[in-house]
Amino acid sequence: MFDPEDLDADLSVTGHVVTSQREFPRGEVRVRDGRVLAVRGTPSDAPAAERVDAGGAYVLPGVVDPHVHCLSHAGEGIEAATRSAAAGGVTTLLEMPFDEAGPVWSVDAFRDKRAAVLREAHVDVGMYATVEPGGQGIAEIPKLAAEGAACFKLSTFQTDPRRFPRTPDGEMLDAFAEIARTGLRVCVHAENDEIVQRNLARLRASGASGPLQHGLSRPPVAETAAVAAVLEFARASGVHLHFCHVSTPHAVDLVQWHRRTGTSVTTEVCPHYLTLTEQDMVRGGARLKYNPPLRTPAETDGLWHRLRSGALDMVASDHAPWPLALKQRDHVLDNASGGPGVETLLPLVAGAALHERRMTPRELVRCLSTRAAHAFGLGDRKGDLRPGLDGDLVILDPDAEWTVDGSRLRSHAGWSPFDGMRIRGRVRCTVSRGEVIWDGDSVRSAAGRGRFLAPAPFPAPPEEDG
Ligand SMILES: [Zn+2]
Repeated sequence: MFDPEDLDADLSVTGHVVTSQREFPRGEVRVRDGRVLAVRGTPSDAPAAERVDAGGAYVLPGVVDPHVHCLSHAGEGIEAATRSAAAGGVTTLLEMPFDEAGPVWSVDAFRDKRAAVLREAHVDVGMYATVEPGGQGIAEIPKLAAEGAACFKLSTFQTDPRRFPRTPDGEMLDAFAEIARTGLRVCVHAENDEIVQRNLARLRASGASGPLQHGLSRPPVAETAAVAAVLEFARASGVHLHFCHVSTPHAVDLVQWHRRTGTSVTTEVCPHYLTLTEQDMVRGGARLKYNPPLRTPAETDGLWHRLRSGALDMVASDHAPWPLALKQRDHVLDNASGGPGVETLLPLVAGAALHERRMTPRELVRCLSTRAAHAFGLGDRKGDLRPGLDGDLVILDPDAEWTVDGSRLRSHAGWSPFDGMRIRGRVRCTVSRGEVIWDGDSVRSAAGRGRFLAPAPFPAPPEEDG
């Protein structure tokens, strides 16, 4: 009888295959015409044009990073950020709308950036849009959805009046109602503006300038108060909500209460909140300045518990490729917030999750690939290894150790918040739609091979058993 799994494959990868549901210690993934043809529990001798044997290393779905800023600093750009993604096993990323050149809140700006993605990207890219506050922004929402926006991002905090403005509460509620009509998700940067601004003014007046002042300006309540308010807006409007870069376990618990009572909401955490604490700022200084800030070891542990249980859905890099010059100013508050991270996301999180935090490989796959793909309408193509999905996969050697040196990563930032950190877990190979784009030494893809990804209507997420 004809079995489609026996068709000639373009690529066969054997190794310890992990999907969101299954694990095959000696399995095989077969790819044909850019898509997964078969996932087998044992290797076959069916024909394949190219074979890769990963030995005992993991063969995982390509990582879906839902939070990347390719253009918050123009010195990076889509080419360098997506090259860095390829080397880090990230085969899909969602690009943020707050660019140095201005926010992506008009159809023209969206089309310009989409054209740049098609010219420059090494991996596949979905795009966020944002909503201009105080003007005609809400009227643009259906037009941007029709252009293929994956999500809209808004902020309760005024990071920058031009590049990254705050949306006031009343307008945010109206925007949520309009986004709900599109069926898309809205993502919120949740920090209470009044609390933080008052603390910042007090700290400036005090003359204190050391790195720990940053965390004092943004205590946990600045995050949780904003999360609580935004959850109520989502509940009232019926929009699908997502919180980016959650830094406190209590924020996740508030989300869980809302989920149990019917609010549609997902959350992401970032590698820096999982592997660094505020005490690391004593040594690392403003390089480790993030919004929200690094927290205590107890909060880090609480985030890991919630990630393992699935209360926290996914991990995102929040790749913000500032040059070091913007991270070394004397007064901590004068420095840019964030840092590069798309290339270290998978090895850093996998190393800690598998070796220290006792997560299973399947749990890792769900929080690094599957749930993000589903939350942003890409689950019909991305986020898992299953026949018919795109042939995106990554070989991760879970035991290979290396030391992070940001000057050797592919981002133009030239440094890493994790510089000097010893990591157990190395990306040996990245495959995007059947093409080897990273071979463990160099990026083999050409800029412009990446595709723009528009979201599909949300299917029900898969059952997660075991
Ligand atoms: Zn961000």
